[in-house]
Amino acid sequence: MTLRFEIQPAAKPTPDQDRAARLVDPGFGRVFTDHMAIIRYDKANGWHGAHVEARANFSLDPATAVLHYAQEIFEGLKAYRSEDGGVNLFRPDANARRFRDSAERMAMAPLPEALFIKAVEQIIRIDRAWIPGGEGSLYLRPFMIANEVFLGVKPSAEYLFAVIASPVGSYFKGGPAPVSIWVSQTYTRAAIGGTGAVKCGGNYAASLRAQAEAIDHGCDQVVFLDAIERRYVEELGGMNVFFVFDDGSLLTPPLGTILPGITRDSIIALSRDAGTRVREEPYTIDQWRSDAASGKLKEAFACGTAAVISPIGKVCSTNGDFVINGGVAGPVAMSLRKKLVDIQYGRAPDPHNWVRKVL
Ligand SMILES: *Cc1c(COP(=O)(O)O)cnc(C)c1O
Repeated sequence: MTLRFEIQPAAKPTPDQDRAARLVDPGFGRVFTDHMAIIRYDKANGWHGAHVEARANFSLDPATAVLHYAQEIFEGLKAYRSEDGGVNLFRPDANARRFRDSAERMAMAPLPEALFIKAVEQIIRIDRAWIPGGEGSLYLRPFMIANEVFLGVKPSAEYLFAVIASPVGSYFKGGPAPVSIWVSQTYTRAAIGGTGAVKCGGNYAASLRAQAEAIDHGCDQVVFLDAIERRYVEELGGMNVFFVFDDGSLLTPPLGTILPGITRDSIIALSRDAGTRVREEPYTIDQWRSDAASGKLKEAFACGTAAVISPIGKVCSTNGDFVINGGVAGPVAMSLRKKLVDIQYGRAPDPHNWVRKVL
């Protein structure tokens, strides 16, 4: 599909000095660039009205569908300043495909993949001065809402797709700090036939109570178990999980009810490239506990675009706590993290053609 983006640059962009100040320690998701990209959809016109404009509030009728029935999906990907002074995206085609899959599951209009990538690239071009150097990156947040004004329960006939961008610092200063996780025995995240494999805001809304319970127990993150037997490890609220064994092999829960992470997929590919055996198989919380005790389990880590890889140092539950690898980051997690980040920043060869040069 060819849609031309109309570019309307911000009349009052952030002055250079203010931008520089905001880029010093941006944290995550609090600082935003000057522009946003928008594409609209309705039944009569299909995808239309593609444009880039100053980032601004949306005006929504109180009866807008998304506000009532939560037809909303999103993506998350990063642009990196590469060694050669260019700007890289990492596997944006995979985000575009997943966004389509999410749209289909949520009965929303699927956005053509080329348009998704084009919208992301428009924002990177116009807001390139906002991409931090060093280990920082520009986090891009494409999302889509149902914006038909109607209180009936049915798929919306109108959608608004947008991309906003947020400069982010290195997630961990001085190397990734191991996280502690709380095993939720009260709440589940997803069941077969549900929306667990889809990146929709509703999944996050439903996970927040469990995450709050994790915080109440002094943990950083929650890990969910399967909804049927309540024993198979699924994933964290927003990250997939891997286990590393004493024979050097890796295990990660199979796809189905978990979110098919692009970081997860990349870790599987890089590990297999290096000759490492990777199984995508169910793993119970009891096995995790006993493998940690026997020493069969060497490491566990969580992964996702935002933090790349977070070692898991401690697992807590109502049945007691256990520590992994003495509570410190392990060598497999650290080396996989470096491999992945080096490809993203253009410092290492890219055998799978994952990097897309935007500038
Ligand atoms: C986005 C997300 C992930 C990680 O996916 P990546 O593509 O690696 O960023 C994992 N779990 C959930 C629930 C997510 O929403």
